[in-house]
Amino acid sequence: MLTGAPGAAPKFGRNPQHGPDVAVVGAGPIGLAIAWRCAARGLRVVVYDPAPGSGAAHAAAGMLAPVAEAYFGEHELTGLLTESAARWPAFAAELAAASGTDTGYRGEGTLMVGLTADDLAVARRLWAYQQGLGLPVTPLRPSELRDREPALSPRTRGGAYAGTDHQVDPRRLVAALRTATERAGGTLVPAPVHRLADLTAGITVVAAGCGAAALTGLPVRPVKGQVLRLRAPGAPGFRHVIRGFADGEQVYLVPREDGEVVVGATSEERTDTTVTSGAVLRLLRAATDLVPEVAEYELIEALAGLRPGTPDNAPILGPLPGRPAVLAATGHHRHGIVLTPVTADLIADLIVTGTPDPLLAPFTPERLGPAASSQPVTAAAARGPAGARPTTQEESWN
Ligand SMILES: Cc1cc2nc3c(=O)[nH]c(=O)nc-3n(C[C@H](O)[C@H](O)[C@H](O)COP(=O)(O)OP(=O)(O)OC[C@H]3O[C@@H](n4cnc5c(N)ncnc54)[C@H](O)[C@@H]3O)c2cc1C
Repeated sequence: MLTGAPGAAPKFGRNPQHGPDVAVVGAGPIGLAIAWRCAARGLRVVVYDPAPGSGAAHAAAGMLAPVAEAYFGEHELTGLLTESAARWPAFAAELAAASGTDTGYRGEGTLMVGLTADDLAVARRLWAYQQGLGLPVTPLRPSELRDREPALSPRTRGGAYAGTDHQVDPRRLVAALRTATERAGGTLVPAPVHRLADLTAGITVVAAGCGAAALTGLPVRPVKGQVLRLRAPGAPGFRHVIRGFADGEQVYLVPREDGEVVVGATSEERTDTTVTSGAVLRLLRAATDLVPEVAEYELIEALAGLRPGTPDNAPILGPLPGRPAVLAATGHHRHGIVLTPVTADLIADLIVTGTPDPLLAPFTPERLGPAASSQPVTAAAARGPAGARPTTQEESWN
């Protein structure tokens, strides 16, 4: 059950005579989860999106991986990821009850592997860092790895188990959130927002993913990720999420109950969503190096999505400078699925109580400095220089 008194009024923002208490721009997982939490507390909520669920979430793998995604220099972010992942089991159960829809949440855990000795050396540096943070990373010998997942290549030199890194199906998640929001009394308007000034709500939440830049001037940039969907004949021959280094290439394989396996992903500083043969080749080579049987699976989809990236890879959460009635909930980059529960709770609490949770402090728009201006910019400026060149792959997997 959700807490909060029905009919609660927002504690700040305008007090609209007409129009909703809360307008949410963007019906991806972040906007919808905030809308659901607010509507369930009795607020009048309207969500605007011409194509709900069509943003980064449509391409996302759905790994809930605060341990495997704990990277050097991202300490604050790791704390928020860990907090949100801990909320996921209850969130999934509550959402399933509210929507009558299964989100595909699975808790078998994640195996992190290295194919060659060089791959293993790179992976071990990261695991040592993660263990140093107190995160649960259990090293496994090759025989122990294959006991857990016989489908792994016998060439795999070693690995580690992250039992708290789970997964969910992002497309099912969005569908469930949409139903739960509408059942709680929220309204979805299938139209884009071009100017925040056109909205009459007491509080506006900008949860438009990459679209937030054009609306707010916040430094959110698209980071392209190409990803594949395969289908096993029957259930996939492995149950854990498998993330690996294979001859220097990073890849993950995410098995779903229905036989689908998501293989991803590139990370490119580009704004297009073209699928390239080179990326497909690299992803499939790395995936089949780690789990040879996937070469027999059907290739059912190849697509690219645009992650809403920020200068420090962390989300932007809270009021825009000088505009307390406009809250940002964007810039979730590689982590928007895992961060959905905590983002929704923190933003809905802020709206209802008027008091920011201390967890929000490291993620305010102000931290990004004067560049995080509240002035709208043109869509063209927000997209960056035309024809931006790709960079080499970053150390990211989502
Ligand atoms: C290949 C890939 C793999 C990923 N894997 C993972 C993963 O395993 N785990 C994880 O946690 N994260 C993952 N991510 C990241 C995750 O998908 C994003 O962080 C997440 O989708 C962000 O959610 P969002 O709701 O903020 O934005 P989005 O999902 O991008 O949704 C934004 C919505 O806003 C709408 N919108 C935009 N502009 C406007 C406007 N002006 N008016 C109205 N509506 C507007 C769009 O139509 C869209 O529906 C992955 C991303 C990619 C691309």
